[in-house]
Amino acid sequence: MWLPLDELGNLNGAREYTVILPPLPLTSQGDAFIPTVPTQVDFVLVRSGEKIDILGRIQGRGVVSCARCLSPTEFALNCDYADAWWPFGQGEESEDFLVSAFVDSSRRMINLELYATEMVLAHLPMRAWCSPDCQGMCAFCGKNLNEAECNCAMRDVDPRLAVLGRLLNDKGGVLDGTTKEKNFKGSPR
Ligand SMILES: [Zn+2]
Ligand SMILES: [Zn+2]
Repeated sequence: MWLPLDELGNLNGAREYTVILPPLPLTSQGDAFIPTVPTQVDFVLVRSGEKIDILGRIQGRGVVSCARCLSPTEFALNCDYADAWWPFGQGEESEDFLVSAFVDSSRRMINLELYATEMVLAHLPMRAWCSPDCQGMCAFCGKNLNEAECNCAMRDVDPRLAVLGRLLNDKGGVLDGTTKEKNFKGSPR
């Protein structure tokens, strides 16, 4: 669907659009989102001086890779966003807007499907987990630790390092001497 830029100049009140994107895989910074249903992008355009304010909503479902173990993970894409277009004026914002991938500046048209796709890409999950207590992958052998344990020694070190990190971050922790004093009392000679 193409929206002529010049129509935006006559925009009175709010104008609503709904774009339904076909369930084609999308990739953003190496993370792939494979929709299992069409993705719906609803947005409202409101003229505000030199710009168009946009409030949008993205709704969809699909599969992403778990950030810890990489197994396919169902993900519901449900988010609201705020955006702005700058089709008028001569400022830097307008120059940036007119070279957007979804703007055909020679025909002075906006491709709403391309715009909606860009919004979905910008709001893909960067961190989705297959479950809150996903055990992830072994850093050494690469085994999915949700499926089976492995025998790599490093697995025993990781929790200790986590504890050490907590102690060092806790100001009253190892440095207050309490633990030391108790040990002396407990072992008289
Ligand atoms: Zn996982
Ligand atoms: Zn391992």
